Amino acid sequence: MTTKQYVCIVCPMSCSIELTDDSGVLTVKGNTCKRGEEYAKNEYTDPKRMITTTVGLRGSRLRCLPVISRKAVPKKLLRDCMKQLYATVVDAPVRQGDVIVANILGTGVDIIAARSITL
Ligand code: SF4
Repeated sequence: MTTKQYVCIVCPMSCSIELTDDSGVLTVKGNTCKRGEEYAKNEYTDPKRMITTTVGLRGSRLRCLPVISRKAVPKKLLRDCMKQLYATVVDAPVRQGDVIVANILGTGVDIIAARSITL
C-alpha cells in the first residue's frame, strides 16, 4: 500500500489531500470537492504541468519571446521540453498565439507565443 500527500492547487482553498493506492484501488481523503479527488488521482497516475518560458528572438530589439504551452504536458517530459525550447530561436515579428513549436516531443501540445513582438 502506498500513501501520498498532496496540496490541491485547483482553487485557493488549498485542501490537504491524502491518496492511498491499495493494489491499484485509489482512495482519496481530505478533498472538499470532486475536483480535488480528480487532481490527486491525476497527480498520482499522470502528473502534468503547463510550460511558461522564453525562446530566443532574432530581428527585434528584444532578445527573448515569452511562450506558453496550449495545454499541460507530462511532467516526466518537462526537462526535455525545456531543453528543446532553450535551443529554439524565432524571427520577429511574432503575433500572440503563433505556434512556435508544434506538437512538442510528440505530446500533441503546441508551444505558442504569449505576446506579440513587432520589430
Ligand atoms: S479539493 Fe476542491 S475545494 Fe479543496 S482546494 Fe481542491 S478544488 Fe478547492
